[in-house]
Amino acid sequence: MLFLYNTLTKQKEEFVSLNPGKVGMYSCGPTVYGYVHIGNVRTYLLSDLTRRYLEYLGYEVRLIKNITDVGHLTEDDVAQGDSGEDKIEKAAAREKKTPEEIARFYESYFKQVEKELNILPAQYFPRATAHVPQMIKIIEALVEKGFAYEKNGNVFFDVTKFEDYGKLSGNTLENLKVGARLEEHPDKKNPWDFALWLKAPAEHLMQWRSPWSTGYPGWHIECSAMSTEYLGSTLDIHTGGEDNIFPHHEAEIAQTECFTGKQFVRFWLHTRHLLADGKKMSKSKGNLYTLEDIKEKGFSAMDLRLFFLSSHYRSQMEFSWPALEQAHKNLQKINDFVLNLEALTASENSSLETFDVAIYREKFEAALDDDLNTPLALSNLYELISQVNSEITSDKLSSQSAKVILTLWKKINSVLGFTLLGQAEIPEEIKRLIEQREIARSGKDFKKSDDLRALIEKKGFILEDTKDGMKIKAVGRL
Ligand code: AMP
Ligand code: ZN
Repeated sequence: MLFLYNTLTKQKEEFVSLNPGKVGMYSCGPTVYGYVHIGNVRTYLLSDLTRRYLEYLGYEVRLIKNITDVGHLTEDDVAQGDSGEDKIEKAAAREKKTPEEIARFYESYFKQVEKELNILPAQYFPRATAHVPQMIKIIEALVEKGFAYEKNGNVFFDVTKFEDYGKLSGNTLENLKVGARLEEHPDKKNPWDFALWLKAPAEHLMQWRSPWSTGYPGWHIECSAMSTEYLGSTLDIHTGGEDNIFPHHEAEIAQTECFTGKQFVRFWLHTRHLLADGKKMSKSKGNLYTLEDIKEKGFSAMDLRLFFLSSHYRSQMEFSWPALEQAHKNLQKINDFVLNLEALTASENSSLETFDVAIYREKFEAALDDDLNTPLALSNLYELISQVNSEITSDKLSSQSAKVILTLWKKINSVLGFTLLGQAEIPEEIKRLIEQREIARSGKDFKKSDDLRALIEKKGFILEDTKDGMKIKAVGRL
């Protein structure tokens, strides 16, 4: 039985989907105005892990991940969606590109990062700019029902009309009143009302016609429009980072439940932040690392994947190079384990000892069933590896057992999601370095050739010059 911690109820609850066998899941995707950093990756990995484990359990999962290419303002984390500049327009001005060019560029970068991390692609990545009519439809209904109001071409959600406001974050109106005061937009009735539609100043590049003004949608409304468009009124699971809980997800609940009259999300899952130097890794704090930074230091995307899975998604996690180094070593251990098993299956070792794999499968499932406890699942896997290694050393593991263990490994890995050795293509960069080394060798520049070999090794590939020519082997890559 799968138990997931639900931010809404603040406890672990048994997960049962609304429709038998099928799960509707939505993940807040990137705002495409800059390079995705590895903090973001931690959050995308949570939805990948959840989806993979649900599929392991036999569910058919429909995962929708939006692309925010309009409407997310620079002050959205501290204000209510009505102040600051549009993040994408600001990047467009900085990079002297159109907002569309900016959005497409960073969207494709994000997809490349997900691919390298072996994050399975969502079934659909809807873009906010392609769903403005759906947003307008919801806003119109909210105005008509009296949950939202218009003034001077701007439309706001009236938080006092939704009595459950604050149920996700604990930021009820009572609590908010004693908290910090917000800078008030002149057209708002209450400081905590949030923007659904804003009238665009003439210089604003992205504008759409609406019944209220030529303008643009607020950030929160896009997720309500796109999630319900593709998943219906009630979602089984909605994921995001902990910073999304308030105001973003609180606002999503308010506007969607007032629109549909139904429960919006059954299970809310949030990742705790990835920290760097003790602070949340973020674009604004400038303490971020991208996948490129990780690779430049000789680590692979799979090392990073293992680094993340080594910590529970609801624990804060501090980024550090020694921790990544440890992940790299553990990945090598797993790599060797799989290679050894493969070699054994090809041999004809017919030891009579049988290996009890069932216990390891049960342990794996028990760990994942307990709110996706990947650190526990990994420590069980390392236990399995130790047992296998010692049986191989004493020549007790039969080819048949090796086959059975490999089958279990494949099943486990359908959830952990490491790219298997052999399946991993040699990256272009490595191919280029190998070519350069060949040129250096044929020109008898052995110093350069050795330096290049060392560099290739640092990037995780070993070159072996054999009598049959050069062979290349990935180190620590699964
Ligand atoms: P953004 O592009 O800023 O909207 O962020 C995309 C996703 O990454 C959101 O779900 C955020 O909550 C999440 N996120 C941002 N920073 C971090 C971090 N340091 N650790 C974990 N998740 C993060
Ligand atoms: Zn969202």
